[in-house]
Amino acid sequence: MTNPLDGLAAALADGSVEIVDLTHTLDPDFPVIVLPPEFGQCARFRMEEVSAYDGRGPAWKWHNISMNEHTGTHFDAPIHWVSGRDVANGAVDEIDPSVFVGPVVVIDCSEGAARNDDFELTPEIIVAWEAEHGSIPADSWVLMRTDWSKRRGADYLNMADDGPHSPGPTPAAIEKLLARNIRGFGTETVGTDAGQGAHYVPPYPAHYLLHGAGKYGLQCLSNLDRLPPTGAMLIAPPLKIKGGTGSPLRVLALVPARTGSGENA
Ligand code: MN
Repeated sequence: MTNPLDGLAAALADGSVEIVDLTHTLDPDFPVIVLPPEFGQCARFRMEEVSAYDGRGPAWKWHNISMNEHTGTHFDAPIHWVSGRDVANGAVDEIDPSVFVGPVVVIDCSEGAARNDDFELTPEIIVAWEAEHGSIPADSWVLMRTDWSKRRGADYLNMADDGPHSPGPTPAAIEKLLARNIRGFGTETVGTDAGQGAHYVPPYPAHYLLHGAGKYGLQCLSNLDRLPPTGAMLIAPPLKIKGGTGSPLRVLALVPARTGSGENA
């Protein structure tokens, strides 16, 4: 009997499949979402030294850490949103682990997002993408590339007097993705929704519609410019937090290496 994983092991060993890290470093300075002041707030990452090869522990170094479930590069489970509160197996510890490994497609919105902080992913953009790359396969992750992950400091949340300004999907775009029966939707911004996503009907359509349909979210992703439009595999297992609504995680992509023949496909 042949083992189908032999091909993958060989491809990893000879470099024809590369691992791309889509994760930001967990760092107290990394921005977290800021809600209007009447709401509870998301805690940043914190790290406290317990010992460092010293009197508190002569042969070992370790830290206590704390954060919100939605701090840094993180996963959103269906129960994160009120629309998904009754989804079966909707907490991170209940989700079938097969969800955490699967195909991924990338819709490149980086040009539009460079021109317009409030750039919208629309059904028209999805249809144009499919005309070029084929239909979005069922049960795939769909990532919206904006190159927002290259922003630093205050430019990342991009707060103004009327709230944050960052790109995201329209309600109709999310409906289009749900019609393709996607697995989940991911972004480079602090949430799966646009900064001004409260003004759509329904408000925060990515959260409301995706989680209501039992789908998943990823946000604060990085390095999406290193992924092909199709043909990569995503590995994104959240921490197994009992009843957890989400979790920081390491997100990796398996990517076919570009050929050495000078072709930049
Ligand atoms: Mn979240």
